[in-house]
Amino acid sequence: MPSPDLREEWADLLSRRPEFRATLAPYGEILERWARWEPARPLALAWGAAECRERWARGVPLVAEAPPAIRAADVEDLLGAAMDHLAALTDGILPGLERLGEAWDRGRLGPAALLPAPGRIGSADLQAATGLSTDAVEFLACASLRPALEAYLTPCRAHLDAFAWPLGVCPFCGAPPGFSDVLEDGRRRLACHLCGGGWLFSRTRCPFCGTERTEDLVRLEPEARDQGYLVIGCGACRTYLKELDRRVRWNGQSALVEDWGSPHFDVVARRAGYRRPLPLLTQLAAGG
Ligand SMILES: [Zn+2]
Ligand SMILES: [Zn+2]
Repeated sequence: MPSPDLREEWADLLSRRPEFRATLAPYGEILERWARWEPARPLALAWGAAECRERWARGVPLVAEAPPAIRAADVEDLLGAAMDHLAALTDGILPGLERLGEAWDRGRLGPAALLPAPGRIGSADLQAATGLSTDAVEFLACASLRPALEAYLTPCRAHLDAFAWPLGVCPFCGAPPGFSDVLEDGRRRLACHLCGGGWLFSRTRCPFCGTERTEDLVRLEPEARDQGYLVIGCGACRTYLKELDRRVRWNGQSALVEDWGSPHFDVVARRAGYRRPLPLLTQLAAGG
């Protein structure tokens, strides 16, 4: 399945919400860099359906058992650009970025340290060595690894069927969801920003803590002009996820573009006291 051109989608979204054009400019640059990225050699994970399903039956994301052989040189242009965006936007982050740059140059930290691990994105070692916040590490992981992880994992997407994976993390790379879509048939599909994968998930369960208590799952309704968009907060774990009901808004863009292009909903959720994984750059700039 060819990927949609996220740059075109991004341009279209900005034409719909021109008020965000300046604040969201870094995302346009990131998408441009991703589109130009070429793997230095074939990266695809050559696992068939049986090999993938055996892992999924055990609740193990593919990357946990078959980490991709991404080399530092493959992604360091992307990482460097992402670090520049963070440096420009986030006060006080420079020392942490410098520690990351030094450790990367010495080969002490590399792409593997940015991969998802149980309950987190990026290794505890990376965070301890750099002092960077969880939010910053998640942003750096997504901005630098997405094209490589997508090239690595896309061939395995066809092996995932509707019942293979009940967990709230990506069955391919293990990252938490970045966005939620309600499909035309009413089912919910969670989207992974780190690898571009997606998986079906219960609409009545929090993907972050698993609660199914309806009183815990709160709809934080955005303004009326954005029909079809929802922010769902979980009172049990205080995490939120943005969702687009594609039965109402059939011309929506890819989940990543819809997420990055709707920072006003994150403001609503933050004000209500909820957090999310992979927060937007606008939130990092605002100090979380
Ligand atoms: Zn993923
Ligand atoms: Zn929860």
